[in-house]
Amino acid sequence: MNREDFPILEQQVYKKPLVYLDNAATTQKPQVVIDAMKRYYETINSNIHRGVHCLSQQATEEFEIARRCVQQFINAAHDYEVIFTRGATESINLVASCFGRTFIGEGDEIIISAMEHHSNIVPWQFLCEERGAKLKVLPFDDDGVLCLDQLESLITPRTKIVAVTHVSNTLGTCNPVAEIIRIAHAHNVPVMLDGAQAVAHQPVDVQALDCDFYCFSGHKMYGPMGIGVMYGKEAWLNQMKPYQGGGEMISTVTFEKTTYNELPFKFEAGTPAVGDAIGLRTAIEYMQQIGIQNIARHEEELLQYATEKLQQINGLRIYGRAPHKAAVISFLIGNLHPYDVGVLLDHQGVAVRTGHHCTQPIMDRFGIPGTVRASFALYNTREEVDALVAAVERATNMLM
Ligand code: PLP
Repeated sequence: MNREDFPILEQQVYKKPLVYLDNAATTQKPQVVIDAMKRYYETINSNIHRGVHCLSQQATEEFEIARRCVQQFINAAHDYEVIFTRGATESINLVASCFGRTFIGEGDEIIISAMEHHSNIVPWQFLCEERGAKLKVLPFDDDGVLCLDQLESLITPRTKIVAVTHVSNTLGTCNPVAEIIRIAHAHNVPVMLDGAQAVAHQPVDVQALDCDFYCFSGHKMYGPMGIGVMYGKEAWLNQMKPYQGGGEMISTVTFEKTTYNELPFKFEAGTPAVGDAIGLRTAIEYMQQIGIQNIARHEEELLQYATEKLQQINGLRIYGRAPHKAAVISFLIGNLHPYDVGVLLDHQGVAVRTGHHCTQPIMDRFGIPGTVRASFALYNTREEVDALVAAVERATNMLM
């Protein structure tokens, strides 16, 4: 699907056609995104919000158009609920830090799940250490499905926030986030969703979900690296302390007292990544032209096909068998080390990821050192699945 839009995919590695299946780590960029960023630097590059001159005004306008594009993409109620960050990691750190500093004290509790990316574990651990709060963990079963029936019993009057991933980057599980939010809200507990693996693969409507915070990265959705989004409901953002101090986030500064700027600028200290925001807007428009539902359908077909084919390989075990899954397949073969398999796949032109995928607790849960992970995007094909399967078979024969 639209493969010709991605110039990087035309190349060969080790004289083999590149089969890029590391999309959960980062997706490739279509030419329109590369062109939009090039055009920005060639024509209107300048610092925003502070300038009276023409270029500064144009760059400011483009930056704010990008914000409104994100607003519409996730259906946020207001554009000022969209805060630009460097990526999902910074977005989650922002929530943990600002929500935490404002609302979390000694003895309070935070609930995450056992399938979180380290980005949605460590910031909360920092906060717990700082504040004397407690981290509680919702487990998942052998198929990689969250034990939702245990959520209610984890919530106490001390629970201040639930922070879970929308889609697992390792298991592929699409979590029942609407249900999680319903349960948490019934106890007046807000919910933050880590949408890093969701936004490029399924429609996301933050108002329909009624989530309180939603975090994601541009580079996993065909946009550039260095830009991400933290969506937060206005009511929370207005109550929260700022993240970093500096230019743009202030209203007035004296040595005695500083007052803060209005939303969204209160959370955007310093010069933002204007060119990257323009690239992100172009990526969103690109996906919308194809249709997120069409992308989802295509990836679902690849997932079914690849799962079926890989399962036929002797000794291959798939980790993550939830009924509702994104196009991510983590696997091991016999007792082969995932790194060895990954290197042999690479030499056949197949790019996969190996290791713990920044989810060490998942590896501990299964008692394994890591997995080989193939993850799919809109430009992948059935022929590439065949190439993956053939490469895995060849690697297995060489190693066993
Ligand atoms: N959350 C999930 C589920 C992820 O898969 C990732 C990246 O792999 C992140 C957070 C962190 O994203 P970034 O490194 O773009 O900040």
